[in-house]
Amino acid sequence: MHWQRISLALAIACGSTVAIPQLSQPSQNTGAGTLRWSDASFPVENFQGYTSPFGYRRSPTGEPTTEFHNGLDFAAPQGSYIRNWWVGQVIEVSDHTACGTLVRIQSGAWEHVYCHMMGRVEQTPQGRAMVDRAGGIFILEGQRVPTGARIGRVGMTGRTTGPHLHWTLRYRGQLVNPAVVLQAMYGSQAQR
Ligand SMILES: [Zn+2]
Repeated sequence: MHWQRISLALAIACGSTVAIPQLSQPSQNTGAGTLRWSDASFPVENFQGYTSPFGYRRSPTGEPTTEFHNGLDFAAPQGSYIRNWWVGQVIEVSDHTACGTLVRIQSGAWEHVYCHMMGRVEQTPQGRAMVDRAGGIFILEGQRVPTGARIGRVGMTGRTTGPHLHWTLRYRGQLVNPAVVLQAMYGSQAQR
């Protein structure tokens, strides 16, 4: 197991800049050597734009409110495929929260959650699964998923007003602004 340490600064939703020192990259012992942030997969196809940042939402008058948005929203047409950010294990599938149909994946100290998907949870002979037949998606709780694998499709399940992917990241149980991770992914790609 190799952990690459990265320091970076970021602009968060409120506009101030904070440093997140030593954010550790998820890593797997693949025998292929050191994995880099740039090995991660962008989580959605047909990306159209970020519609809601991580952090406290603003009221129409621009004042911060008490509603905390624990992820980043990616707008994409309904039915666009969602791709697994980093190789890991599916630790939960669900379809009865505000998050809608969701898949939660563990990659070392990281947890990544994909919300508002199409499809629903079914009890299958192999176990609990998120099933989206029209999209050809069958994700079993406990299964391993490679980086970049299609794990669902953008939908409107749960509390949402339009099709988008809500993506939540945690590192050792603590929420992380996904924008920081995307910055690290593109930063290391730029260095290649
Ligand atoms: Zn969201």
